[in-house]
Amino acid sequence: MNIIQEDKDKEVFHTLKELQKVDLQLYTIKEAIHNQEERLKKIDLLKEKHEENLHLLQEKLKETKLLITNLEAEQEKLYARKQSLHEHSLSNSYSNLEEKIKSELEKITIQVNEAENDLFVLLESQEKDEQKISELKNILLEIPLSRKEIEDDVKNELAQLYKQEEQNRHRFDLLFQDLPSPTQNLTSRLRAKMSVKNPYYLSSIREFQCERCHMSLNRQLTQQVEKTREVQLCTSCNRILLPHNV
Ligand SMILES: [Zn+2]
Repeated sequence: MNIIQEDKDKEVFHTLKELQKVDLQLYTIKEAIHNQEERLKKIDLLKEKHEENLHLLQEKLKETKLLITNLEAEQEKLYARKQSLHEHSLSNSYSNLEEKIKSELEKITIQVNEAENDLFVLLESQEKDEQKISELKNILLEIPLSRKEIEDDVKNELAQLYKQEEQNRHRFDLLFQDLPSPTQNLTSRLRAKMSVKNPYYLSSIREFQCERCHMSLNRQLTQQVEKTREVQLCTSCNRILLPHNV
C-alpha cells in the first residue's frame, strides 16, 4: 500500500470518527429540544391540575353551603320547639311535666347540641375551602405570567438548539460526502439502527478486542483493520472497527 492510499484510508477512519461525534452531538441536541418542549407541557399540566382542583373545591363548597342552609333551617325549628317546650315547663313545675314532654325536651336538647356541633364543623370546612379556593385562584392568575416567561425562554433556547442542529447536520453532510460510497452505504445502514440509548456505530480495537462489546477478534480481522486499513465490522456487535491509533 502506498503512502497516499494509506493516508486516504486513515482519513476515512478519521471522518467516521468525526461523523460519530457529530451524531452524538445531534442526539444531545435532540434531547435538549425535547426537554425544552417538556417545560411548557409541564406548566400546562400544572394549570390543568389546579383548574380541576379549583372546580372540585367550588363544587364541594356549594354542597357545604347547601348543608349549612339546611342545617340552619333545621336548627331554627329545633330552637322554636325547644323554646315552646321550655315555656311549657316554666308554666308547670318540671316534676309535674308529662314524661313524654320531659323526654322530648331532653331529646331536643341533644339534637340542638348535635346540630350546633355539625354546623361548627361545616363552617370550619367552608372557611378552609374558601381559603384554598382563593389560594388556587391566585396561583392560576400567576401561571399565565410565568408561562409567558417560560415560553419566551423556551423559544430562545429552541432557536439556538435548532441552529446548532442545523450546523451539525450540515457538518455531518460534509463529512459524509468525504466517505467512499461503500462506507457511506454501510454507515447509513448502521446509523439507521442506532438510538439515543445505543448511539455508537464505531468501536476501536483494543488488544485484539472490540472496545464496545469486548469480543475477541481474530488476528486476520485485526490485521485487515490495523495494517491494511480496511473498513470491517466487529463479528459480534456489527460496529465498524477503528484501528487502535485513530
Ligand atoms: Zn463488537
